[in-house]
Amino acid sequence: MPPSKLAIAIHKLTSCSGCQLAFLNQGVVLLDLLNKVEIKHFIEGGINNFSAEVDIAFVEGSISTPEDLERAQHIRQHSKLVVSIGACATSGGIQALRNLSDENWLQAVYAKPEFVSSLQHSTGVAEHIKVDFELWGCPITIQQMNHFIQQLLLGSKPKPSGEKLCMDCKRQQQVCVLVTQQAPCLGPVVRTGCGALCPTFGRACYGCFGPSEQPNCDSLANQFAGLGLVSVEVAQRFAAIHSHSQPFRDQFHRWQTIHAKEVE
Ligand code: SF4
Ligand code: SF4
Repeated sequence: MPPSKLAIAIHKLTSCSGCQLAFLNQGVVLLDLLNKVEIKHFIEGGINNFSAEVDIAFVEGSISTPEDLERAQHIRQHSKLVVSIGACATSGGIQALRNLSDENWLQAVYAKPEFVSSLQHSTGVAEHIKVDFELWGCPITIQQMNHFIQQLLLGSKPKPSGEKLCMDCKRQQQVCVLVTQQAPCLGPVVRTGCGALCPTFGRACYGCFGPSEQPNCDSLANQFAGLGLVSVEVAQRFAAIHSHSQPFRDQFHRWQTIHAKEVE
């Protein structure tokens, strides 16, 4: 008797759907994968069975609305493993930028804010339910997704890398833009996964894959100030795709405080 297939679901909360494309963009690899897994729910792929019991639920998107929270809890109850995929699901993503301000954005943006239902903050999934694995990135890559699923199929416990982007950049023998152009590159505190895409094109990394393990953000931010960035610019370097991740959030507030003292 052939071994039973792994039942998986791909869910979406508040997001742009870019990470789900990592499944569809696998091409022929996806066809091979379908011999080993059965997709029970994947709206973007035309399969709708939200309450299916699954072995693995991949969750894209942040918890930004009461409905997101309800859905995340429902997904947890119906899944053996929950894997958050992408910046939105791991740290709140771009939409978490609003967490950094006390501004009432609903009032400021919408003519009828009473019709909009959203939580005060946008946050990652793990702040609300138990998450077994996290795949960081905006968006996650096909290789990341393939590698993760293959490890699970082989029965080993995936260990997503927390290595610093600089390691990957050096392995590719890229010229360092921080050293040669004085560009404020976040590579020393960002996890690898993108293949050092921006430095390859002579640009500074702006942190799509989130904080690495043991990031020394204090030191890098001081370095940015030494390059001539004013305090508000240093703060802004950490307020991008993963602004709600703890190390970047701390650094943002540190430099906002320095800026506030400077203008007193
Ligand atoms: S992490 Fe980026 S690509 Fe993925 S859903 Fe969020 S915004 Fe889109
Ligand atoms: S370019 Fe950026 S990622 Fe590459 S080595 Fe320099 S600081 Fe690190």
